[in-house]
Amino acid sequence: MLRFIERATNAGHSQRLWPVLAMLVAVVALPTAGVLWFMNEAMQNEQLAVRQRLTDIYNAQLEAAAGRIQAAWRKTISVLPDAEQQKALPELFASLVKAGHVDSILFYSKGRLIYPVPIAITRLSPEPATAPWLQARSLEYAKNSPKEAAVAYSRIAQQSAVARESAMALMAQARCLNKDGQQRKAIDLLTGTLAGSPYRSIADAQGRLILPNALLFALQLMKEPAQPLFQKTAALLVERLNDYGNPVMPTTQRRFLVEQLRSSWPDCPRFPVLEAEETASSFEKTTPHPLAAGRVQPTRMPDLWAYQTPDGSLIALFRQDHLLQSMNVAIAELQPVRGIRYSVFPPGFSSAAFLTTGIGEAFPSWQIALNLEGTPPFQSASKQRIATYVWTGILMTAGITILFLFMAGYLLRQVRLTRLKNDLIATVSHELKTPLASMRLLVDTLRNGHYQDAQLVQEYLQMIAKENARLSRLIEEFLTFSRMERRKTKFDRSVLATHEIVKSALEAVGDRLQAPGCRLDLELAPEMPSIVGDRDALITVLVNLLDNAIKYTGDTKEIRLRGFTSDGNVCFEVQDNGIGFPRTAAKKIFDRFYQADHTLSRSAGGCGLGLSIVQFIVTAHNGNITAKSQPGKGSTFTVQLPAA
Ligand code: ADP
Repeated sequence: MLRFIERATNAGHSQRLWPVLAMLVAVVALPTAGVLWFMNEAMQNEQLAVRQRLTDIYNAQLEAAAGRIQAAWRKTISVLPDAEQQKALPELFASLVKAGHVDSILFYSKGRLIYPVPIAITRLSPEPATAPWLQARSLEYAKNSPKEAAVAYSRIAQQSAVARESAMALMAQARCLNKDGQQRKAIDLLTGTLAGSPYRSIADAQGRLILPNALLFALQLMKEPAQPLFQKTAALLVERLNDYGNPVMPTTQRRFLVEQLRSSWPDCPRFPVLEAEETASSFEKTTPHPLAAGRVQPTRMPDLWAYQTPDGSLIALFRQDHLLQSMNVAIAELQPVRGIRYSVFPPGFSSAAFLTTGIGEAFPSWQIALNLEGTPPFQSASKQRIATYVWTGILMTAGITILFLFMAGYLLRQVRLTRLKNDLIATVSHELKTPLASMRLLVDTLRNGHYQDAQLVQEYLQMIAKENARLSRLIEEFLTFSRMERRKTKFDRSVLATHEIVKSALEAVGDRLQAPGCRLDLELAPEMPSIVGDRDALITVLVNLLDNAIKYTGDTKEIRLRGFTSDGNVCFEVQDNGIGFPRTAAKKIFDRFYQADHTLSRSAGGCGLGLSIVQFIVTAHNGNITAKSQPGKGSTFTVQLPAA
């Protein structure tokens, strides 16, 4: 910008323009600052407004998510049986656990736990005390004769009409066969005859089912889990262990069998219902109850939550991860919103979420949180509007700046023209005055009768002619300059012989080169290409340079004019041994009206336009001019013009 301004004005005068420029800058700076301030305010307001709007929307979303969780919870508790349930409790217990409705459940009647309750049973199964039994037992234990005992038990099994007695006899037979080393036979008996349908649901006198015991016994005899028979038998046992229908296996028998099965079969599956029973009994032992009804409460067991129905008939137990998972499933049913993630926290967890709210009365102190993923949506939402503001601001600032540049350019042009006009008037009046005054003095002297002396008259007339020539040159320069400034100069271009231009220029300079003490050294390359250009203008270039060389040298003038070709250019070099000019002036000498030394220029008859005219012509001919000088030693001006 400054360069532009400096170019538009003459560097030396630019300081005086600062007030105007400062004003112009203020004209740009103030509205720009205003626009920026307004933009900043608008952007902040926009962000706040968008944030508020989105917070309202998110709050509604969060409430909707909490509503979903509450609805899902209502559904869960609606599945819980009421006081008049029809099903047998073990079956009900198993079905609720297997369906995943609860992780465990305890049934109460009048404040007393009725399921799951362990049934106390004695370890030994009392076998009948009839004669055949006593005899067989005597063979087995007293006489230590398992083989015969096995035969005796087999007989009892065949002869008894009571299924339970037959089953017990078969078990005893298998036991004896094993003792006798006949494992294969024992296994066949246990997995064949005993597993048959008549014995499926037979329980012993203590209520323990016989078949599962028989199956476990067979598995323990088989030892090899890889055997197909082992797998088949184990599957049968697992199925029975998971069966909570009638007849119900006592919990203690179930636990015992599971324990035994696990120890003889590492790949034994899980028994969730049994685990649920164990959870119930741990809860019963550790957590005091009744609980406050109608809401989910912590238990004394880690990550286990309890819910008691208002009538106190049951307490449902839930693992924390189970609750969280079903809450997340409920939330997932909501229409997903991009950039939003919900998370649920049990009491005691804190989160740095964007928004949080409670889940409802059923879950005291539980919280649902809304997190924003990636860039917060209110930022991206407001980004678009902010971008609009920024662009508006940029465009406005750019508009103001462009306007400013136009205004500055126009103003500077006006200032420059005014200054030129003033300089021109000052210079013209001054420069014209000097030769006119000299001529008037000489003419007055002659008119007053000093013309008898012919030599004096001749001398005066010559002086008048010299002043006249000077005046003509000045006027010529002014006219050229004026045309140049008004861009009215028209160049009449033609192909010109270089030598001819030089010759004409030397003729134009004329006698001044022949003056005493003046020596011209002309060095022209013999073969020089021609130039396309305006003849008179190019002559003016050389004349002005030679003129200056004469003007700015002392009494002994050694002027050298060289013409040569370089890089396809025609070059002229005018060198003198004159006063030169300092390095600081080198840049300015081509500026109009610039004079390195006013007094000298005045006396030498210049007005600071010669070199600016030279530069104008050379530039118009696609050439270029350079000046080198050493004060006191002389100057060299080199003009380069493209060859035709
Ligand atoms: P002027 O009419 O004053 O000679 P010019 O434009 O021709 O105007 O030159 C501008 C100024 O450059 C001169 O006033 C002078 O100070 C300096 N100048 C030009 N030519 C020479 C030179 N050959 N030797 C020293 N100074 C020069």
